[in-house]
Amino acid sequence: MDTSIKMLLLELLSGDNVFFDYKLDSMEINGEKIKKGTNKCVQIPISTLPSGTILTIDVHVFSADEKGPTVLFAGGLHGDEINGVEIVRQAIEKNCFGNLKKGTVIAIPLINTLGFINYARETSGKDVNRSFPGSKAGSLASLIAYKITNEILPWVDFGVDFHTGGASLYNYPQLRVTKEDEDALALAKASGVPLIIKKNAIVKSHRKQALLNNKPLVVYEGGESLRLDDFSIAEGLKIINNLLAYYGMKEDKLINEGSEVFAESKWMRSPSSGVFLLLKKAGDNIERGEVLGEVNQINSSKKEIIRSKYKGKLIGHRNNPVVVKGDALFHVAIK
Ligand SMILES: [Zn+2]
Repeated sequence: MDTSIKMLLLELLSGDNVFFDYKLDSMEINGEKIKKGTNKCVQIPISTLPSGTILTIDVHVFSADEKGPTVLFAGGLHGDEINGVEIVRQAIEKNCFGNLKKGTVIAIPLINTLGFINYARETSGKDVNRSFPGSKAGSLASLIAYKITNEILPWVDFGVDFHTGGASLYNYPQLRVTKEDEDALALAKASGVPLIIKKNAIVKSHRKQALLNNKPLVVYEGGESLRLDDFSIAEGLKIINNLLAYYGMKEDKLINEGSEVFAESKWMRSPSSGVFLLLKKAGDNIERGEVLGEVNQINSSKKEIIRSKYKGKLIGHRNNPVVVKGDALFHVAIK
């Protein structure tokens, strides 16, 4: 039996994590071997579309000669969250992973291809990020989650899942880490991201699955869905370069001015229906009682001034000005 396979089996039997770089000479994704010191793109087939098109996840692996950690940079779990896709795509295009000193990078620009081409968060009506760990016999979303859980996560030591804001909802660049997950917090601080928000992982999410597998995975949010945002993309690329430098995988200099850490975040909703005017910018510090915006009624001169219920930082806001009572308007991070 091949030595590496024997070691892999021993590790699996002992229940240890499989760290490619520390114990094996090659990793295997979807039955394809990737030897240490080589780069390869592996296409994982997921399903066949009604058109007969084969749906795949394209996984780009970059491996150095020297042992080191294996890191995952993934985008497009939500198909319309294109800043995440663009961050990983640009990182590959700019050759960020081309000359690794040690370790391995697994880069996946787009997990949810069907959502991406349909300008949709979900895939075939289901949210992949609520479908983990997935199942071989499940829906398309469940099949995608199953492949990530079984073909990718076992090799990963830590990672960043790149997302974007929601439909017409802008997010200031931020990393979300699970409360009490010290490894994830250390990872987020090493990344140099401006804001870190402690938020518990959602059940059946990618982050939750990684946590269950003892792999620190942080979630990046930046910009608004279906809109490219240069600032959010630049911050995402900075995170990638900083993490590679911090863990000694590249010789780049760290650009880290420190992060602000917030214990929680709260949404504020519209008190009435009408046209919403935003009077602050994402990233602004705000005081309790400070005016954040107003909602104007269409057929009268009545307006509702909206004051902050919290002292903190504006980390996200609605961009669509047409609102009905109860719509989410402001997302405030609180220390
Ligand atoms: Zn998302």
